[in-house]
Amino acid sequence: MTPLKLTMQGLSSLNDNTVNINFKVDSEEAFEVVAGQFLRLHFTQNDGFETFRSYSIASIFEQEKTTMDEVDIAVSWVAGGLATEKLSHMQVGESIEATGPYGRFCLLPDLHQRYFLIATGTGVTPYRAMLREIELRLQKGSEFYVVMGAQDESGLLYEADFVALEQAYDGFHYIPCLSREQRMQKGINDHSGYVQDYLAQHEFNPDNDIAYLCGNPNMVDDAFSLLKEKGMPVPQIKREKYISPPAKKK
Ligand SMILES: Cc1cc2nc3c(=O)[nH]c(=O)nc-3n(C[C@H](O)[C@H](O)[C@H](O)COP(=O)(O)OP(=O)(O)OC[C@H]3O[C@@H](n4cnc5c(N)ncnc54)[C@H](O)[C@@H]3O)c2cc1C
Repeated sequence: MTPLKLTMQGLSSLNDNTVNINFKVDSEEAFEVVAGQFLRLHFTQNDGFETFRSYSIASIFEQEKTTMDEVDIAVSWVAGGLATEKLSHMQVGESIEATGPYGRFCLLPDLHQRYFLIATGTGVTPYRAMLREIELRLQKGSEFYVVMGAQDESGLLYEADFVALEQAYDGFHYIPCLSREQRMQKGINDHSGYVQDYLAQHEFNPDNDIAYLCGNPNMVDDAFSLLKEKGMPVPQIKREKYISPPAKKK
C-alpha cells in the first residue's frame, strides 16, 4: 500500500481527554475511502522498531465512498501511550506517515430494516462518517439506533451531529448511555447504565436487524454475546475493537 503523508492542519479539544485532529492528505494515488474505514499512523518505538496505531476516519463523508484530501480523526489520550506521546506533541504543519484506508466496518449494500450502531468513546466516529449514507437509508424507510456509551456527558463525542439527524428524522434514535454521572438536563433518550443494559431491554429481529459494535474491546465482547443470546445471527453483528498491536521486541 502506498504511504500517505498526513500534515496536521488543526487540533481541537472534544473533551478533557479527547481531541479532533485534522490532517491534509498527500497521496500519489487518489485517496478513496468508504465511510467506516480507518488509517494506520506510523510511529517509531523507543527501541527503534517501526509500529503503527489505527484511527477511524471521523469526518462526515459527502458520499459513502469518496475521495478525500483531508481527514479528521478523534484521539483519546492513553497515559504512557506511544501514539499519545507523539500526537500530543505534534504541531500544526508537522507531518506523519500513514497507510490506508483499511477495514470493512462499513454499511453493507443490502438495506436492513433496523440498524443498531453501538459505540463507546471514539468508537462513535465511524458512525459520524456514515451520517449522509444513514440519511439516504432513512429516506428509504430504514430505522437507526445510535447507542452511545460514555461515563458522563463529556464523553458524548460529536453529539450535536447525531441530535441534528434525530430532529430531522423520526426513524433516527440517538441513545446516550451514561454509566457514571447523569446530566442535569437529561436528553429525551438518555439511559442510565452501560450500552449492554440498554440492549438487554430490546428485542431483535434476526430477519431484519443488523448491529455494529465499535470501541472498547470489553464492551464489544459483552454486547456481541448479548446480541447472540438474543438471537442475532453472527454475520449480522459487525465488530471493530479498538486495541493496539503488540509491541515489537528486539
Ligand atoms: C481499527 C481500529 C481503530 C481505532 N480507532 C481509534 C480512534 O478512532 N480513536 C482512538 O483514540 N483510538 C482508536 N483505536 C485505538 C488506537 O489505535 C490506539 O490503540 C490508542 O490510541 C492507544 O494508543 P497509544 O499508542 O497512545 O497507547 P499504547 O502505547 O498502545 O498503550 C499504552 C498502554 O495503555 C494500554 N491501553 C491502550 N489503549 C487503552 C485504552 N483505550 N484504555 C486504557 N488503556 C489502554 C495499553 O495496553 C498499554 O499498556 C483504534 C484501534 C483499532 C484497532
